[in-house]
Amino acid sequence: MADAPALDFQAIPHPAPVPGETRRQAIADPGFGTVFTDHMVVLDYDEAKGGWHSARLGPREAIALDPAAAVLHYAQEIFEGLKAYRHDDGSLALFRPEQNARRFNASARRMAMPELPEELFIESIRQLMAVDRDWMPDAEGGSLYLRPFMFASEAFLGVRPAKQYKFVLICSPVGAYFKGGAKAVKIWVSSDYVRAAPGGTGAAKTGGNYAASLVPQAQGIANGCDQVVFLDAVEKKWIEELGGMNLFFVMDDGSVVTPPLTGTILPGITRDSLIHLLREEGLDVREEPYSIDQWESDATSGRLVETLACGTAAVVTPVGRVVGEDRDFTIGSGSAGQITTKLRERLVGIQRGTVADPADWVMRL
Ligand SMILES: *Cc1c(COP(=O)(O)O)cnc(C)c1O
Repeated sequence: MADAPALDFQAIPHPAPVPGETRRQAIADPGFGTVFTDHMVVLDYDEAKGGWHSARLGPREAIALDPAAAVLHYAQEIFEGLKAYRHDDGSLALFRPEQNARRFNASARRMAMPELPEELFIESIRQLMAVDRDWMPDAEGGSLYLRPFMFASEAFLGVRPAKQYKFVLICSPVGAYFKGGAKAVKIWVSSDYVRAAPGGTGAAKTGGNYAASLVPQAQGIANGCDQVVFLDAVEKKWIEELGGMNLFFVMDDGSVVTPPLTGTILPGITRDSLIHLLREEGLDVREEPYSIDQWESDATSGRLVETLACGTAAVVTPVGRVVGEDRDFTIGSGSAGQITTKLRERLVGIQRGTVADPADWVMRL
């Protein structure tokens, strides 16, 4: 970072951190998103005070909110998700965190929220990791999942951008998303619901997009599937993404297709990294629209050999089967294909420091 962070972080002592033995039990098999570390970072924003102020690192605790806080009524809220990994030398590393900081601000702009200087975003992570690093799970595939978020805290019921916000960073120790390697998932094609429309908020990481995905996700589960794939809102024809993961389609000639970022798809950092890695390996990656009918006919004819979903939480996940109101088809053998497996291993290796970092992606803490 060129500039030192503009704010000093006040350290608030923790009166009663979780005892070592209890912590070790909690992180032995943490699952995803239910165990939390001792501390959190909070920054306040107040337009009348000139912006961000009162940065502090303190005990993780409940946040007092006025019942009229704007976020509770009009959902001005954004978040990010990234992981800290432990390398073999014991150091902690982040994967392209400046991209998360940048995307956080892109989301902020879309939701009429203030931007947070990128160096403050990164410094918050440094501060939290300095005190909570012992929460790193020992088991293979474990990591510390970082959840930065921001919401409108101002108490008022008018519809306009709030003048007060809170930025909060919490951390959750997580296990390998899929134990024993990546199991192929079964995907439900939602025909009743869409995730994002042109001009909407699909490219912003905002809680409302997830709230809107819960009913279609439940429909998918009721139909025996693990995840939902959303089609475009206009023609209900073009494949967009899953509720929280981007998609890649691998053809039998070695070329790869992924839907373009036209504003309705979340620009995944994993997506961007995979495009880079695939191109580096000489594959032809095309960012172009791909239709649900083409997916079915290519899978059936064998022209399409693999489909993978990607995102920070599950990294790279094979899609094995696709089910919809009037379709049901299998991709390849129905289990993880060669390119999916290779990509996953390469990306996980880069993140964990066991494979060469191709583009200065890893930031040591
Ligand atoms: C976060 C997210 C992704 C994946 O982004 P990564 O940066 O790769 O973790 C994909 N789709 C949606 C809707 C998301 O919210």
